Amino acid sequence: MHFECLAQDGAARLGRLRLRSGEVATPAFMPVGTLGAVKGLSARQLHELGVQMLCANSFHLALRPGLDVIRSHGGLHGFCGYKGCILTDSGGFQAMSLGGRLTNDGTALRLRSPHDGAQVLLDPATVMACQQVLRPDIAMVFDECTAYPADHHTAQASMERSMGWAEHCRAVMQDDDIALFGIVQGGIYPDLRAHSLERLMSMGFEGLAIGGLAVGETAAERLQVLDALCPLMPPHKPRYLMGVGRPLDILEAVRRGVDLFDCVIPSRHARNGQLFTMQGIVRIRNAAHGAARAPVETGCPCPACHDGLSLAFLHHLERNGDPLWVQLATAHNVSFYMRLLLMIRQAIGQGTLEALHRHAREQLETSAPVAY
Ligand SMILES: [Zn+2]
Repeated sequence: MHFECLAQDGAARLGRLRLRSGEVATPAFMPVGTLGAVKGLSARQLHELGVQMLCANSFHLALRPGLDVIRSHGGLHGFCGYKGCILTDSGGFQAMSLGGRLTNDGTALRLRSPHDGAQVLLDPATVMACQQVLRPDIAMVFDECTAYPADHHTAQASMERSMGWAEHCRAVMQDDDIALFGIVQGGIYPDLRAHSLERLMSMGFEGLAIGGLAVGETAAERLQVLDALCPLMPPHKPRYLMGVGRPLDILEAVRRGVDLFDCVIPSRHARNGQLFTMQGIVRIRNAAHGAARAPVETGCPCPACHDGLSLAFLHHLERNGDPLWVQLATAHNVSFYMRLLLMIRQAIGQGTLEALHRHAREQLETSAPVAY
């Protein structure tokens, strides 16, 4: 892996990340394809929409279809057909969201399979072995995602545990083809975050992620963490903010020096009838769209906008539960994110990120708030 910073605008960085499967222009957004596909889109469509990196989940893939099937395809790229870069998350966040519990000796997380209720044990060794079968371009260390709210003592104990696990993961994962990223934890406490970062920096990870956010904290608390942490992060390594991805959240983090993002929002909101545009969110279920001749967004290269499909037709598809709606809406939202990130990269290159930020705040904040 090679990361190069090409230009800066304030703390924002324009960069290039070279990985085994290709190059990623940063700041970059990774659509989430938990099981190797973004719901409703083919690998070819992802490529056509300009996606350079996909975020998949090793925990869910290990449960279904299972590692033997993926191993027989030579890894996740061979299995899902996506030729761009792939990052796999380790399952720490899923363990938290599925109600996982720490084992008595504190060395692993125990949780139930969402498919059949079978007990699953996750620890650094099994999670790294799993990602070695998946062979992503970037693998994530196994960590404990600290729940919110957590008092300082609880957040510290959780962070210390994650740092021990990170060390274990680094020792196990010594594959030149797979870049391993450490994950900074520490809840909303700047001192714990700084300590976590220091520990990770001494372990020699290829990149650093900020985990444990977008779990219920306020936007102000999240920005406080980024304000404290980003200036301490090494300039020559990529920085990945995990799971945070509303358009304005991305802009705020980019302004503070973050390079990589993933979020389920573009695909989940598509399934919920919400389309992102540069003028705010279009709620397709709104009856006013039932007779609208205009496309979602003029100039968008997604199949629906490119072919001039009207809001009325999309409203009709969604209202009747046609699976074509999910496909078209997801493609549009992913296209929006790719265009937004392209605009951000261009603005950093031209030194106009603050103007873009002001413009986006005026335009995007006029729409109704989006819930995660
Ligand atoms: Zn579109």
